[in-house]
Amino acid sequence: MVNGRRKKKNAYIALGSNLGRRERNISAALNALETTKEIDVAKVSSLFETEPVGGPDDQPRFINAAAHLRTSLSPERLLAVCQQIESSLGRKREVPWGPRSIDLDILVFADEIRSDPELMIPHPLLHERRFVLEPLAEIAPDLVHPTLDQTIQQLYDALLAAS
Ligand code: AMP
Repeated sequence: MVNGRRKKKNAYIALGSNLGRRERNISAALNALETTKEIDVAKVSSLFETEPVGGPDDQPRFINAAAHLRTSLSPERLLAVCQQIESSLGRKREVPWGPRSIDLDILVFADEIRSDPELMIPHPLLHERRFVLEPLAEIAPDLVHPTLDQTIQQLYDALLAAS
């Protein structure tokens, strides 16, 4: 079926930046998503400033956010669009977990499940990362995690209780 005619599905992504003009990088990425014809940006969380997790010592703090997309793309095509946006915003893949101008991760894509290392959905670390759960809980507290069978709010509460 032609992409444009395919029914749109719900996808949730995480955005992060800790290099350059961080807020601007996040809004440029959202803008690029919105101008992709098969993607609507339905909802965007607040911006959260967070401490880096992993990676080199002394890397700058991140700005993190989450967004709810409606898209007729497949998960694989959405990943390709996200990676293209990362490249266009100057993302260089040099240091693992290192500073990045923009990082886009697909967290949940409808009820789809993928276990390819190139595309894992739901994102395997989604429920372990406060910097992902906090913005996601703001925009989608009642979203049910497709494999853990708990809402995002429940997962966030459990993470807070454990820390
Ligand atoms: P990162 O450094 O966090 O941007 O990771 C990028 C790598 O993770 C790429 O090789 C992607 O193909 C892979 N990857 C696996 N699952 C996902 C996902 N759900 N969202 C984004 N990238 C993913």
